[in-house]
Amino acid sequence: MLHQISSACALLALALSASATQATGPGPEACGNLTQALGSKTVVSNVLSMNYIDSVKSYFNTEQSKFKPSCIVYPTSADDVSLAIKAIRHSESRFAIKAGGHNPNDFYSSVDKGVLIDLCDMTEKSYDEDSTLATYQPGGDFGDVYEYFAKWNRTVVGARLAGVGTGLALSGGLSYLSSQYGLACDSFRELEVVLPSGEIVTASENVNPDLFYGLRGGGGNAYGVVTKYTVQSYPADTFYAGIVVYLFQHNSSVLDAISDFITYNEDPKAAIIGTYMKLPTPGFDLNLDEAIIMFLVYDGPDAGNAFKNFTDIPHLVNTLGQKTYTEVVNMPIPNSAELNAGRNTFRVTVHGGDETGIANLNTLYEKWVDWGNDNKGKYLLTSFDIQPIPKSLTDASNSNYGGNAMQMPDGPWYWVNYLLTASPLLSEKDLDEVNQSYKELVEAVPPTEGLPLFINDASHDQNPLTTYGGYAKLKEIKARYDPDGYFANYTGGWAFP
Ligand SMILES: Cc1cc2nc3c(=O)[nH]c(=O)nc-3n(C[C@H](O)[C@H](O)[C@H](O)COP(=O)(O)OP(=O)(O)OC[C@H]3O[C@@H](n4cnc5c(N)ncnc54)[C@H](O)[C@@H]3O)c2cc1C
Repeated sequence: MLHQISSACALLALALSASATQATGPGPEACGNLTQALGSKTVVSNVLSMNYIDSVKSYFNTEQSKFKPSCIVYPTSADDVSLAIKAIRHSESRFAIKAGGHNPNDFYSSVDKGVLIDLCDMTEKSYDEDSTLATYQPGGDFGDVYEYFAKWNRTVVGARLAGVGTGLALSGGLSYLSSQYGLACDSFRELEVVLPSGEIVTASENVNPDLFYGLRGGGGNAYGVVTKYTVQSYPADTFYAGIVVYLFQHNSSVLDAISDFITYNEDPKAAIIGTYMKLPTPGFDLNLDEAIIMFLVYDGPDAGNAFKNFTDIPHLVNTLGQKTYTEVVNMPIPNSAELNAGRNTFRVTVHGGDETGIANLNTLYEKWVDWGNDNKGKYLLTSFDIQPIPKSLTDASNSNYGGNAMQMPDGPWYWVNYLLTASPLLSEKDLDEVNQSYKELVEAVPPTEGLPLFINDASHDQNPLTTYGGYAKLKEIKARYDPDGYFANYTGGWAFP
């Protein structure tokens, strides 16, 4: 009995000391101040509350759900964000800014024992029929944004999947409409920004143009928090779009069709992304664990012959037909961005559209297939996604204010996004090993020099910003707007080495 009482006392003491540890330190101090200033509806510290659970569970890389913020702030205005930044800064707490939570890198939009600023409640939007300018706040996902502007048969340049968040635009943002209008950031006209000092400013061509430049593709959470986007909108009427699914036995024909598209397609209304996927069936060789999905999208009711090379190849499924833009961004099925959540990492490479670059595509692909075969059982999914960057896209980008932070060299060239969803059964040590081996796979063929590594698809260790034409300028802007390195030191994000 005595033994039981002393065990219970020990447990109680442990619980008290754990809560005492949690209740002190910069994170809890910032949370205490924030709760006083903004109220307990806006600042949630209870790890069992539904809001808290929703915020920490909704990451595309579920490894980030292990982190436990000291509290989560749900701002509804730029003033709230400003107050939060000032309070967090005062307490010297770590923090993170979260929009859609799709960046797979740890601490980019997640934080452990610090303050998470979840922008999900900032969802106001507006449309001005005279100027055709659209505004949206950073909360919600691009599906919500598209649905709102569809009332006017308009849309904005954003994600190709409805579920992805608006942080995509600050890192460029490749859309099905990009070949016509450039990346998402090329359509920015004015941004409302809370600086690392907490000051609320405007960034546009005429006001703080250097900040505007940095935010046009130079990454989120580096120069401040964007609380409102004003962007050029575009018409969205009937699209001719769908997916075509092939067995892997047609891999080389599909790769040839993609290569031809990269090199020769000059119709900016035609957009594709080619996704080669491998799932795990260790020990079987039935070819049922591999598929190729082509996403084909034409901005117009009739694609003519734009996709004939793809439809001529024998396929299992073809859903091509007339669609609204909302239907296009929900291909192959609604919520696919969420369904793929797991132990995810991204890596990216870039190659030219010339003969050498196209030859490289075949090598990259073969190496990826070999890696997939050699590592069966260690992953739930790996995919190899080919994204053409035509000249019409780089022209459109460069025609806006002299180009974005990437200073995109003339197309054609292409990005390949590698996705690895590691097996949930791997130990932390095995997970590190499989990630290391995936890194070596991607590094086996060096990217083409002079082309930018896309930060939306990059791993934290790839230092993608250093490949940008505007890098020297970005570094200066970072130093100007984050002079004491507050964002650099207290939140995750791309490094400026
Ligand atoms: C399923 C899937 C599909 C994708 N499709 C595309 C695609 O079609 N095109 C494309 O270009 N990319 C695509 N991506 C990549 C995607 O753009 C990045 O993952 C991007 O980071 C997602 O933004 P988010 O708001 O969802 O994520 P978050 O992780 O919330 O934000 C990304 C980064 O931006 C910062 N940030 C977000 N909002 C703000 C803000 N308002 N102010 C300051 N900093 C901010 C965050 O702190 C974080 O560092 C896709 C990713 C996934 C997982």
